[in-house]
Amino acid sequence: MPASKKLTVVISQHQGRHPAKRKLEEDLAVALMMDPNVEVSLIPNLYDLTADHSGTLFLKAIRGDLVVLGWLYPRAIQWILDRNGIKGRAGTVLLRGEDEDDAEEPDDRPDAIGGLDIPNRLLYSIDLKASTDAQDFLDEIQRIVDETSQQTVDLMSWIQGDPKQEQLERYLNPKAILESAGGNNGSVADAENDEKVRRRWYPVIDYDRCTNCMECIDFCLFGVYGVDFLDRILVENQDSCKKGCPACSRVCPENAIVFPQHKEPAIAGADGEVGSLKIDLSQLFGGGDALGLAVKERDIELVRDGRDAVGTTVGLRQKSGCGERDELDDLIDGLDDLDL
Ligand code: SF4
Ligand code: SF4
Repeated sequence: MPASKKLTVVISQHQGRHPAKRKLEEDLAVALMMDPNVEVSLIPNLYDLTADHSGTLFLKAIRGDLVVLGWLYPRAIQWILDRNGIKGRAGTVLLRGEDEDDAEEPDDRPDAIGGLDIPNRLLYSIDLKASTDAQDFLDEIQRIVDETSQQTVDLMSWIQGDPKQEQLERYLNPKAILESAGGNNGSVADAENDEKVRRRWYPVIDYDRCTNCMECIDFCLFGVYGVDFLDRILVENQDSCKKGCPACSRVCPENAIVFPQHKEPAIAGADGEVGSLKIDLSQLFGGGDALGLAVKERDIELVRDGRDAVGTTVGLRQKSGCGERDELDDLIDGLDDLDL
């Protein structure tokens, strides 16, 4: 197969099989297959892929600029990819959801430790929740095609000889995925193949925010966090995290911990602060303080595990509750400043 000079676009499918979401994915795939400047692929939900899944290996094989569309906030997409060794400089995406309008640039956080070994290529993360109209995404991809210099990508030469060759080839042929759906009583196209993908739940660290303060490793009593050879914080045991619990994201002083599937936008990676004036007014209206909530969530998981609750006695450098200045005080000050 000859090398092609095209922009690679990967669609990460929704975890469920919601018809409207699958239709948007399929409309985009069909339209992009007709675009001579684009190589399009469908993969199962990015967040659920393990390091050795063929979808992850396929993404790692892509060398040039890359666009990834998924049902996740762009920060979540970027740092899930980074976690799996799929790295690049974040490309600017103009199509963003309503709660993503005031995106901060990484330069706004000079104390952040930043990503490691970032190659000189652009990685565009696009949230499929940003619009229900496929044309909006096609226009944005066309804009990116115009601003990037496409590189020679020869995926087949990399794939040759790989034990998972057959599974990897699948991603080079999205038409087959779409056709297999049509031949199965009209069911939706699903990039999942015989490699079963199970739903996962784990934290993702945004290194453009993280200052390596180690609050999270102290707080988590389930062995999820560790450090790398440079003593940088990392999520070491992803699947030891407790499903549905986002406790450590409330403890992180930099809002650097993302749980991509959490229902609160700020925790799922929207460009807001966990418990901030901008996103989470629930704190002011009876939601309680974020640290207190985190302690309760952690205690629930400890008890579920047959261990003793520890309350605020372990792994909490910040203080919650009365008598200390906390995030609620900052929130009230913020409202005062607005002179409402
Ligand atoms: S608590 Fe947040 S800023 Fe501190 S090391 Fe953990 S992820 Fe980084
Ligand atoms: S959510 Fe709980 S179990 Fe999971 S990493 Fe955070 S503190 Fe640990």
